[in-house]
Amino acid sequence: MVFSPAHEGNATHDVTNQPPPLAPYDASEDAALLEGLRREGAGWAEEDVRRIGRIAGSVQAQEWADLANRHEPELRTHDRYGQRVDEVEFHPSWHHLMRTAVAEGLAGAPWADDRSGAHVARTAGGLAWGHTDAGHGCPTSMTYAAVPALRHQPDLAKLYEPLLTAREYEPGLRVPTEKRGLLAGMGMTEKQGGSDVRTNTTVAAPTSEPGVYTLRGHKWFTSAPMCDVFLVLAQAPQGLSCFLVPRVLPDGSRNTFRIQRLKDKLGNRSNASSEPEFDGTVAWLVGPEGRGVKTIIDMVNCTRLDCVMMSATLMRKTLVEAGHHARHRSAFGARLSDQPLMRNVLADLALESEAATTLTLRLAGAADRAVRGDAGEQAFRRIATAVGKYWVTKRGPAFTAEALECLGGNGYVEDSGMPRHYREAPLLSIWEGSGNVNALDVLRALTREAGTAEALFGELALAQGADARLDTAVHRLKGMVREGSEAGARRLVEHMALTLQASLLVRHAPSAIADAFCATRLGGDWGHAFGTLPDAADVGAVLGRALPSTG
Ligand SMILES: Cc1cc2nc3c(=O)[nH]c(=O)nc-3n(C[C@H](O)[C@H](O)[C@H](O)COP(=O)(O)OP(=O)(O)OC[C@H]3O[C@@H](n4cnc5c(N)ncnc54)[C@H](O)[C@@H]3O)c2cc1C
Repeated sequence: MVFSPAHEGNATHDVTNQPPPLAPYDASEDAALLEGLRREGAGWAEEDVRRIGRIAGSVQAQEWADLANRHEPELRTHDRYGQRVDEVEFHPSWHHLMRTAVAEGLAGAPWADDRSGAHVARTAGGLAWGHTDAGHGCPTSMTYAAVPALRHQPDLAKLYEPLLTAREYEPGLRVPTEKRGLLAGMGMTEKQGGSDVRTNTTVAAPTSEPGVYTLRGHKWFTSAPMCDVFLVLAQAPQGLSCFLVPRVLPDGSRNTFRIQRLKDKLGNRSNASSEPEFDGTVAWLVGPEGRGVKTIIDMVNCTRLDCVMMSATLMRKTLVEAGHHARHRSAFGARLSDQPLMRNVLADLALESEAATTLTLRLAGAADRAVRGDAGEQAFRRIATAVGKYWVTKRGPAFTAEALECLGGNGYVEDSGMPRHYREAPLLSIWEGSGNVNALDVLRALTREAGTAEALFGELALAQGADARLDTAVHRLKGMVREGSEAGARRLVEHMALTLQASLLVRHAPSAIADAFCATRLGGDWGHAFGTLPDAADVGAVLGRALPSTG
């Protein structure tokens, strides 16, 4: 038999009923994202966010994400002469992703931007850019988050903040102050405890120079070890303290930062997560001695918001992939996107995605206004970020699994990218405070920090009277808060999160979205899996907004 050249690749059949590639697409084409951006005071950044979205959805950026995850970072402990170098080599795609993220202001840039809404703009940019790769979001996020913690030591902040906020990506180990831009990491977790950092055993010994210490000990997780500087917790004479550890010292010599291993992780594989040992490692005190947790919590509060953002972007990305597939795939004689049960699944996912995005941007707005001195927003941010971190990240694995299933077997295959997104999702509820730790943090805020409950209920009151199911949920929440027990913390925080998301949707989303969300998440008219919206739900309207092409 003779084949024409056109048939050589598929000798036995024509390929039909497979969707065309999704890229190029605009990752910012999301009504919830753009409306939230404007509402939270950063409408001026819309063009930037749209540009980021177009780059994120480009064939090239999608390929960078794929390659950076296929070609994983490699640790080089020694050079050819046996000298320790402790360097990690990344695929060029990683550097392209990092360079773009930093240049687009997704690292420390908002701290150098006086415009009201600068932190919202960054979060919205992150929601769009997150359609690429999650791994490089780790050093980007830590660089952003290090700035407010570093400000506890003004002399260090004066030196390093301009470089952490610069839009320049300059990889490689060199004297930090001689670089055009810096990245920051964080070293808290040790083998014997990550949630309970008070158990840290790394010791910080003061030197004769004020503020300068040497560290001896180990860290069990320290991600992105090619960052220039790290905020590290260690036990000083007056207790657990926060330090800035540079990888290269001002005289150009390498600080001791012995990377024992890189972790072999479930996901987040483009990023390196290391186990460093400190031995005579030079460290500069940040904040008062003995107040390490209080100092570094300013960093953790920012990375927690980014965990919510990264979960929301994973949801949106996988929803877009699912919608695209459903629109182009037929089964039993009809397009999947026209089949009622698939439409129910997609619409249910769309509700979840919109609620996550809307909450993320509300949290970013609170962070932005808190940074500018708004005490009420600071109280709201304090409790609502922990609530969002608990719930949105908890929904990620179930969401991405369901979206993956929309692609059938193709979704289970690496080529689709869906397994990568699915593997990423659980991480966001582990680091920066695992599920229980965040739920307990909400209880702590309620009982010990004045104004947090008032701020939360003040926010919920803004939607009062708009939906009877929401009013009932708020009433129930008040009772739950009064009775708050440690064993019941997840139950409480889940209800708090759903009530808060519902209140935001009732106020800001089209009625079809708000109504379906309240009916299911608050009214109990829902199953346990996605795709169980009641018949009364206006699936067409939900899809028309979330996935115009499938509406
Ligand atoms: C890929 C990856 C990268 C990481 N990168 C970094 C990094 O760069 N820097 C860094 O410092 N850390 C990093 N971490 C560590 C991460 O922050 C910790 O793993 C996390 O904080 C949990 O700590 P742990 O692993 O010691 O677990 P544990 O603290 O032992 O917790 C185990 C479980 O117990 C639960 N728990 C804890 N306390 C309570 C309680 N009182 N009541 C009920 N349940 C409780 C937790 O929620 C968790 O489910 C990283 C982790 C991963 C997976």
